[in-house]
Amino acid sequence: MSSYRAKAIILKAYKLGEADKIVKLYSQKNGLIDAVAKGARKIKSKFGGRLELFNFIDLELASGKSLDIITGAEILKNFSNIPLDFNKFIFCQLISEIVLKMHLHTNEASPVLFKLIYVCFNEIDSLPKDDIYSQEKVACFFIAKFLKITGYAPIIENCSSCGTAIVEEKSGKISFSIKMGGVLCPICSKSAENMPDMKKDLNLPHYNLISDLFSRKFKDFRSVEFDNAVLENVYRLISDYFNYHTDCHIDCYNYLNKFAAVVQSNIKSNIKSNLN
Ligand SMILES: [Zn+2]
Repeated sequence: MSSYRAKAIILKAYKLGEADKIVKLYSQKNGLIDAVAKGARKIKSKFGGRLELFNFIDLELASGKSLDIITGAEILKNFSNIPLDFNKFIFCQLISEIVLKMHLHTNEASPVLFKLIYVCFNEIDSLPKDDIYSQEKVACFFIAKFLKITGYAPIIENCSSCGTAIVEEKSGKISFSIKMGGVLCPICSKSAENMPDMKKDLNLPHYNLISDLFSRKFKDFRSVEFDNAVLENVYRLISDYFNYHTDCHIDCYNYLNKFAAVVQSNIKSNIKSNLN
């Protein structure tokens, strides 16, 4: 049995049998790792709380047949605010689900994807608790960059049908076709009018945000401000695009609806307690 070391982020963890734990991780050099930590759920386990969800850890592993075996683990970075906040947890769960579902059949390592996961977790961890706008902004950035890394990015500078360079229309409207995989010039947009459910009209702020998402690095993107409604619309568009072009079947928008449900129930309970 050969052994190796890996620096990895825990994307999923669940119980196995009486005392073991299975963890799914994304590592810098080995890509996805499925591993078992024997006895990890015992009170006096040598792993302590190191194998908790979203931790960035330095691992010692022994290669196994279907699962590798974790023989040692040290925490490199503990994103401790994520499990304590429902909103942060849900967004990080979305990121984990996308990575796990998309890469189940490959073990190719992508240092760029690793860095993206790390940057997004780190940002969500450090954001103020109630700043859902910024958390959604990070999730939207992740989905866009994930599409780019995996080769699914939409075409946004040229018409995705005929290749003509996109020039802003006098009306300020630019068509985006999910099915065609990007923006459309006015001529191609007209001929696509019979498939309106796959074609959306974007105004300039939407187009600029999409362009920023795919072209900027996170440190530059972080400071870009845009209207909340623009972010909502673009998040929905990118999510629909993601689902149409990948086999992940993740309802990204459902994650936002979970927030909406919590916000609504908080408002209701506040109203109730004010009335009482
Ligand atoms: Zn065209």
